[in-house]
Amino acid sequence: MRPIRPGDRGPAVTEIRTVLAGLNLLPPADGAQIDEFDTATERAVRAFQQSRGLSVDGRVGAETWRALEAARWRLGARTLYHAVPEPLTGEDVRSLQERLLEMGYDAGRADAIYGIRTSRAVAQFQREVGLTPDGACGPHTMNALRRLGRKVVGGRPQWLRESDAIRQSGPTLVGRTVVIDPGHGGTDPGVVVPDGTLRWTEADLVHDLASRLEGRLAASGVRVQLTRGPAPGECLPDTDRAQLANALGADVFISLHTDGHLNPDADGVATYHYGTNNGVTSATGERLAGLVQREIVARTGLRNCGTHAKAWDLLRLTRMPAVRVEVGYLTSPTDRARLVDPRFRDRVAEAIVAAVQRMYFPIERDVPTGSIDVSELRAVVAAGTVVD
Ligand SMILES: [Zn+2]
Repeated sequence: MRPIRPGDRGPAVTEIRTVLAGLNLLPPADGAQIDEFDTATERAVRAFQQSRGLSVDGRVGAETWRALEAARWRLGARTLYHAVPEPLTGEDVRSLQERLLEMGYDAGRADAIYGIRTSRAVAQFQREVGLTPDGACGPHTMNALRRLGRKVVGGRPQWLRESDAIRQSGPTLVGRTVVIDPGHGGTDPGVVVPDGTLRWTEADLVHDLASRLEGRLAASGVRVQLTRGPAPGECLPDTDRAQLANALGADVFISLHTDGHLNPDADGVATYHYGTNNGVTSATGERLAGLVQREIVARTGLRNCGTHAKAWDLLRLTRMPAVRVEVGYLTSPTDRARLVDPRFRDRVAEAIVAAVQRMYFPIERDVPTGSIDVSELRAVVAAGTVVD
């Protein structure tokens, strides 16, 4: 199949745009159906490709088409089961996996593939609610899932074990240790963008952001350690940064970066946690990354480029929940205009504090994204009251 590309017109383009609008990557068409592959469509395709780990070329070839096909399924629209050898894939599978994980069932990673592990988790759920444990998710199982809502937490799978220590340690931030890792530094400036007589560097911007985050976390009673100063002599390798966090017994590790791309249209925020293609994942890392991503998107309006599993040294060697945040593209004129604004960096810092706080709320007491007032947290700590 010839890829569908910018400039193309026709019903296939309308279909692509409909799926992208359903994923909130494009504004819904007002009235008239648009059948033109315009620049907005291309941007949306790129964002979609990035979120699905596809090569980002802004065209819809066979692979991207399959991923779009999978994305159109909504949970409850079809019966899900473990099909061999071609497993069912789709957004509905991902939603189901997320629900199961939220409820404490070991569905593995929310990878949108209905594999044996998802099927087993469904069967366990079915047993516990008195349904036939066939591992398939049809109307009865969907009803049971809807009835139970988000509040129920059951089972003792890996996800709960991993997050047990965090949940039982209570919701307070006081006395936690957070290691903040401003990326690059020294001989490695990271992404560099000349701007008239100025020169913006990733290393400087993320160090400034790290300092803002440090101040806010410290004011909430957190012990904070940065992996580097503003102008280190050398660039510390990622393995050393991970070891530093391990040696400090950190509770949370946050690495800060900005992204860069030859295409100035590439923009948005993405977060990364430890995981492999085989479905091995740090569940607490994934949760923290999801919270950081959602809070930043809600509070800054940066494009949502999603949360992704990576086996990078920095994420693999750290023994605590660890995330790497790519806060916007320094090479994008729109992202850059925001990043160089100190007020914007303050908002990003507030978003990350809110995410770290939510990490310690039990799931059933979690609050909506964007709703934590960081200055309120500070006031509580200043008044000497324990946050509960
Ligand atoms: Zn970087």
